[in-house]
Amino acid sequence: EMVRVRFAPSPTGPLHIGGVRTALYNYLFARKHQGVMILRIEDTDQARFMPGTEEYIMESLAWSGISFDEGIREGGNFGPYRQSERRAIYRHYADTLFEKGHAYYAFDAPEELDKLRKEYEKEKKTFIYSAAVRKSLKNSLALSEAEVRQRIESGEPYVIRYKMPDNEELRFDDIIRGEITVNTSTLDDKVLFKSDGMPTYHLANIVDDHLMEITHVIRGEEWLPSLPLHVLIYRSLGLKAPSFAHLPLLLKPEGSGKLSKRDGDRLGFPVFPLQWKDPKTGEIVSGYRESGYFPEAFINMLALLGWNPGTEQEVFSMEELIHAFSLERVGKSGSRFDPEKAKWFNHQYLVKKSDEELAELYRPLLGEKGIQADPELLVRIVGMIKERANFVSDFWDQSFFFFRAPGSYDPKAVKKRWKEDTPGILEDLKKMLTDQQDFTASGIHSLIENYAAEKEIGMGQVMIPLRICLVGGTFGPDLTQIMEIIGKEEVIVRIDRALKDGRTVGR
Ligand code: GLU
Repeated sequence: EMVRVRFAPSPTGPLHIGGVRTALYNYLFARKHQGVMILRIEDTDQARFMPGTEEYIMESLAWSGISFDEGIREGGNFGPYRQSERRAIYRHYADTLFEKGHAYYAFDAPEELDKLRKEYEKEKKTFIYSAAVRKSLKNSLALSEAEVRQRIESGEPYVIRYKMPDNEELRFDDIIRGEITVNTSTLDDKVLFKSDGMPTYHLANIVDDHLMEITHVIRGEEWLPSLPLHVLIYRSLGLKAPSFAHLPLLLKPEGSGKLSKRDGDRLGFPVFPLQWKDPKTGEIVSGYRESGYFPEAFINMLALLGWNPGTEQEVFSMEELIHAFSLERVGKSGSRFDPEKAKWFNHQYLVKKSDEELAELYRPLLGEKGIQADPELLVRIVGMIKERANFVSDFWDQSFFFFRAPGSYDPKAVKKRWKEDTPGILEDLKKMLTDQQDFTASGIHSLIENYAAEKEIGMGQVMIPLRICLVGGTFGPDLTQIMEIIGKEEVIVRIDRALKDGRTVGR
């Protein structure tokens, strides 16, 4: 049997990284089994529809490298792939359930049900529309056939509800959770078809999974409570249910509770793949792409939030993930999201990129500062600093001194490292460097080594103040390389400046 899976988001808001992970696991599973990956847009809830989110979802997945074989852009033989365009299909299934005695019409007005709910709450009970109460409500199980007909003919709005079997011990399997048992008397008679002529999520989801010949439903754990109903609807329609796999939640970095939209910008990391601007409030939430993450790093990080390869390997390309992935290695418990680990992954991918590629990514950032770097030199600089960066946007702080003199000196470094004898040492050095013919990194290095040996002082006593003069602090790559690149003249200018600012720099 050909594997067919779907990612079925609702366009009710921007796709959260948990949604991207669901799409990813579907994608990996499909590719691993040479199956088909489908994108289906579940837009039956008109009240919650948010403009722009369908495009956002598709752009996010494309950026992440998750592609589809069938979908609203790709087309396919099982379309349309947007539920609002499949409206005409669903009613028939609701009618079939009604005819078989598995569903009924209900005329209760929403206000009446609200009132009941409140009355129950007062007595510290929960109202559920179920076998225990359905006979006392306004539906085709309680009212006479003539009255039902009369209400329908007079145009009274109604919904179609699923008739949950009473007190049945249900047993079914989930690939990740194992066997699940539920007693149906804990479940309510869910609405399948709404008075606005639209199916609910439950009905549309099942009808489409059936018609699109979905073999495996891989989705978030928040849908687990709906699973008994789904299994029953398949049974009532006489259809074979697909296999199910419910993925564990992504948890907050603190460890407990579901990672929410609000956690991200509160704790300083994105929870959305791309930046999103709320069309109503104008509020902007940050995205991985705009924060400088490489899509490969983003995907690698997400893959390991819930799945583990059973080895020590952490860095996986998409191809390697496809090869290694299995639902059997997806854990049952939630995975704690770790923003530091996300950065670590980006670093791994950054250092793997060629210096040439990174230089091209850095060039526009320099351009914004009015700096036009020599192409070969930029490649060399990037090679020297990439180990110290998680993002291309970190490059400037690690390399500005190649392009301009430091604007200030780190007061902590100065306090610790600018000693009584520092000005004297720098004066000596200045003279020697001015006379130095071989102004290469190795030439400069031997010069300083000889000087320190002669004066019987440590290399640090020379190198660290010199570094403060040249870069403004105690950070940065190999100092003699920096000196070779910025050149003799600039080195002397910067030593002079620091000496002149001596009193402000030092004490
Ligand atoms: N439309 C549902 C969602 O937004 C799909 C759930 C499912 O995959 O069955 O997550």
